[in-house]
Amino acid sequence: MSVLRLAVPTPLRRLFDYLPPAELSEQELAGLKPGIRVRVPFGRRELIAILVDVAEQSTVPTEQLKAALEILDSEALLPQSLQTLCHWSSDYYQHPIGEVFSAALPKRLRKGLPVQEQGEAAWQLSDRGKGLPEGALPRSPKQAAALALLQQQTQVSTATMKAQGISTAVLRSLREKSLIEACTMPIAPQAGISREGLPLNDDQRQAVEGIAATLGEFQCHLLEGVTGSGKTEVYLQLISHCLAQGLQALVLVPEIGLSPQTLDRFRERFDAHIVVLHSGLAEGQRYRAWEAARSGAAHIVIGTRSAVFTPLAKPGLIVVDEEHDSSYKQQDGFRYSARDLSIKRGQLHNCPVVLGSATPALESLHNAQQGRYWHFQLPQRAGGATLPQIQCLDIRREPLQAGFSATLLARIAEVLQQGDQVLLFLNRRGYAPSLQCHDCGWVAECQSCDARLTLHLRQRQLRCHHCAAYRALPNRCPDCHSSQLLTTGVGTEQAERLLQQHFTQWPTYRVDSDSMRGRYAMEELAAQVNLGEPCLLLGTQMLTKGHHFPKVSLVAVMDADALLFSADFRGEERMAQLLTQVAGRAGRAGRPGQVILQTHHPDHPAVQAMLHQSYAEQAERLLAQRKANGLPPAGQLIMLRSDCVDAATGEEFLLQLRRQFEAEPISGCQLIGPLPSPMPRRQGRHRSQLMLSATGRPAALRAAPRLVALAEALPKARGLNWTIDVDPSEL
Ligand code: ADP
Ligand code: ZN
Ligand code: ZN
Repeated sequence: MSVLRLAVPTPLRRLFDYLPPAELSEQELAGLKPGIRVRVPFGRRELIAILVDVAEQSTVPTEQLKAALEILDSEALLPQSLQTLCHWSSDYYQHPIGEVFSAALPKRLRKGLPVQEQGEAAWQLSDRGKGLPEGALPRSPKQAAALALLQQQTQVSTATMKAQGISTAVLRSLREKSLIEACTMPIAPQAGISREGLPLNDDQRQAVEGIAATLGEFQCHLLEGVTGSGKTEVYLQLISHCLAQGLQALVLVPEIGLSPQTLDRFRERFDAHIVVLHSGLAEGQRYRAWEAARSGAAHIVIGTRSAVFTPLAKPGLIVVDEEHDSSYKQQDGFRYSARDLSIKRGQLHNCPVVLGSATPALESLHNAQQGRYWHFQLPQRAGGATLPQIQCLDIRREPLQAGFSATLLARIAEVLQQGDQVLLFLNRRGYAPSLQCHDCGWVAECQSCDARLTLHLRQRQLRCHHCAAYRALPNRCPDCHSSQLLTTGVGTEQAERLLQQHFTQWPTYRVDSDSMRGRYAMEELAAQVNLGEPCLLLGTQMLTKGHHFPKVSLVAVMDADALLFSADFRGEERMAQLLTQVAGRAGRAGRPGQVILQTHHPDHPAVQAMLHQSYAEQAERLLAQRKANGLPPAGQLIMLRSDCVDAATGEEFLLQLRRQFEAEPISGCQLIGPLPSPMPRRQGRHRSQLMLSATGRPAALRAAPRLVALAEALPKARGLNWTIDVDPSEL
């Protein structure tokens, strides 16, 4: 007997056995390959599953097995290496294998639609057309010419027809006479051609030569280079090497890094088939790009997080740009890190992986120090630009207007008068983060979250930034009816107003998720700003990523204090990365920049570190702290989270889990909690967490499946959800 072992897209962490479809012959059965799709009945639905294995027998009695309905493919959809990656991810992140395969496939294929061979639109003779003699249709020379071409070659692409002066109208009338029919022609794979790159400086050359020497084998490389040091140029030249060997390159970029500017740089350098994969694509576009990567027609694949699962026919190189960026970690559902998976992929494909950043994650630096990664550094800005000077502005006892000290406003005026641009960083959108009654102390809070409502003055609304809740701005206090409502704190909307009133001569551009709607809003703004006229740029984190503003010579962090006191052990690392990245926006293109941090805590060690230490030095100090505390990358964390309509049920569940785990402890593992999550109530649900801290990977690898098995076996209260997050990026 043969049994199909299938990965079915359900939240259950197991494979499902089915009998083969009844009409399948022995021979067909023997030809089934892992990785093909199978349509199966599942409960009252039909689902598309992936074949993992054909087994001799099942642990389920035969009479209880259902038969699969249909075999959908003759060849595996994903190459073997990628199937292995899916299994590995499922084990490592403890996520159901069926859902992992789903994440790896484009929607079209998940829905069970057939694989479409990608090709060029072409034409061929119909049966009727084949019956025509040579020299038919003498009265219409263009139609005759088209027929003659098709009589010589079986298929002719629409492009070739056009080149021969045969228009679509001519082809259409031939088709109306049923003489020809449309078809697709396989595209002959063409070599990707690289145009000449910039002459490299010594550091860049060392990186390109060192990394290129590992093409054809697995090696992970850390390319650490300050903003503007020419990392992208290094990637481009490595890709040239890769294309010259007939191999494909996969380039991962953070969510916000996939700008037309980035793409233009690739398109200018290569005469090659470049495909782009991101969440904004229509289903058909995404599928075609995926198929081009899989067939080998695409030379370069550029994509955001989920592109790490794109199949490649001839993988040669994987690049992860801005590898420290938090968008590489998926924060819900299948919680994987695309950076970490790209390294696993490199191993499976025997190809090098390049992690690039101005501010590498401590994990990556640690791996480089341990000798697991080769470490290349680009300490200088390419083309001779100098790095900015950082200063701290003590605002204790200084009167502030919408968050600006008089000193800062004066500095801004000077810079604008010199004809330069100013960038102001304020990581809080809206007008003010809180609204309070001056008479009775009432505070506007969200009813479903443990959070205050943010005032958005232009829309006259109070909005929760953690759920979708909003309400109209009240004129009076709902408790005491006083009209003395006061705001506390400053958001970008308020700061923008002040700038507009104070600097009437110069435009202020606000950059946050409220003002930048639409995929290209940011590009348009960047293009406008880079015309070079003096202006003020004010914005949130959005402003600190991806874009280069060569005419900015002053960067100010309006509220550095907001970054200082984080409950997350990664808080200081993130602050150093963020500030280094913001600072990096200034003074490119040969002009020294100036960076000002407004703070009430000028003596705080993290502020002092920003002033006096490079990112590398700060990272060194933080890494030593992590090692002393057994925190990643010195140890490993696994987080179990629960959410429930009431607080006690979730905590009780996690407490039982802890007791059961500790009844048979795993050495090197320690459980902490259950504790309320940093924001305990969100969208009306109470959240708790239990953290497992392991001394290293072997202990964590043993603990993760055990935790899941115990959690699955516990009786689950009504309305309770739990999730596991291996290597959580946020606590
Ligand atoms: P990064 O990716 O590290 O931010 P880029 O590769 O974007 O740096 O380079 C920053 C700027 O320096 C770009 O305008 C780029 O064209 C230029 N550049 C890079 N490498 C060189 C080089 N070897 N010679 C001259 N200019 C260079
Ligand atoms: Zn009141
Ligand atoms: Zn809310």
